[in-house]
Order: sequence, then C-alpha cells, then structure tokens
Amino acid sequence: MSSIEQRHHDLLADLQATASRLGRSAPRLLAVSKRQPAAAIAAVHAAGQRAFGENYVQEAMVKQAELARLDDIEWHLIGHLQTNKAREAARHFDWVQSVDRLRLVEALARERATGLPPLNLLVQVNVDDENSKSGCSVDEAGDLCVAIARHPNLALRGLMAIPAPHPDFELRRQAFRRTRELFDRLQADHPGMDTLSLGMSEDAGLAIAEGSTMVRIGTALFGKRD
Ligand SMILES: *Cc1c(COP(=O)(O)O)cnc(C)c1O
Repeated sequence: MSSIEQRHHDLLADLQATASRLGRSAPRLLAVSKRQPAAAIAAVHAAGQRAFGENYVQEAMVKQAELARLDDIEWHLIGHLQTNKAREAARHFDWVQSVDRLRLVEALARERATGLPPLNLLVQVNVDDENSKSGCSVDEAGDLCVAIARHPNLALRGLMAIPAPHPDFELRRQAFRRTRELFDRLQADHPGMDTLSLGMSEDAGLAIAEGSTMVRIGTALFGKRD
C-alpha cells in the first residue's frame, strides 16, 4: 500500500474504533482535498474513498476534468459559495454543504438541471455566532430548510457547522452539541434529514461523541496543505 492508502485505511479504522468506544455509529468520511493535487485524490479513490470535499468551485472543476475517468466519485462543496457561482456549483457538485441564505437556495434550484439527480444540500449554521464566518444563525435554519424542501430538484440532507477554533475543546463540544440539538428539532419536520456534518482532523472524536454522521478530514489524511 502507498502511504496515503495506508493513512486512509488507518483513519477509517480510527473513526470506527472511536465510534464503537462511544457507542455511536461510525460517521461517513469526507476526504477534504482542497489544495491537494488530482493525483492525491486518485490515490485515495483507489483505496476505496468516494466522497471528496473542495472549498472552491474553480479549483474543483480543474481537478474534476483531470479525474473525469474515475466514475463513482462524489463531490461536495464545503467552502463559502457566492451566488454568482451557483450555476457552476449546481452542475459540478453532488452536494453543497455551505447553504446559508435564501438567495442561494433559489439560485441553486434554478440552476440544477432537470435530468440530474437532486442536488444534496446541507444548511451551514454559524453556531458560535462568529462575525467573520459564513453560515446562517440558529434562528434562520428552519426557514432555509423549508425553502429547500419546496424544490424537487434539491434534497435537504441536514446541517453542517464549523465551531470557532477554540483551544478549549469543551467549548467546541458544546457547539457540536447545540448543532445536534438543532438537527434533532428540524428532523422532526424533515424526516429526510440524515446528515450531520461535524468534525475535522483536530476534533473529529469530539464531533462523533456528539452525534456527527459525517466528518470532513483533510490534513489527517492527505498531510499538510501547501
Ligand atoms: C479545510 C476544511 C476541512 C478540513 O480541515 P482539516 O483540519 O485539514 O481536516 C473541513 N471542513 C471545512 C469546511 C474546511 O474548509
């Protein structure tokens, strides 16, 4: 096995072990490939990984063209999305995890071609109310879910959050917990919601403890980004 295949293997085993120790189901792994070359994605794909996360539409499109021969690959947009990029995002991704405003919901609904399967969406919640962050407020999330659910070419799948990178991990844990409580409340109205995207390389274990169903991991899989 190449070292990246080995790391992928070990990471899956780690996630599985952490989850069973906590009495949770193992989360899905989203391999965050921003600023990693297409060759690294191909190596992780060869190890069996299917879901990849990118932050920028243009950067992703370059790699998607290079990797067009790989079938059965699932692209997730996890970075902030400008409304004027909605057309490309709706055509080149299977999931958008960074939906945080009504205008963006309507633009994605307009641009997702009929003939493609519904575009899977997560509402990104700014759970620590940080000024600089994208994400809607906890209070706005419900209306966004209702707006998404109205469109047959969009699939409301759940929530995503990035807690403030606080060195005190107890504060991150509380942010994960608040997101999960919001998820549980919204799920009562939207039973199709099945994805809670929480946790990155540093805090995946905490996120799993609080009920994450998808961890987004870059550094711990691909190594440091340039
Ligand atoms: C970069 C990024 C990640 C992965 O971060 P790592 O610390 O490298 O695991 C996860 N989620 C989002 C939204 C990111 O931008």
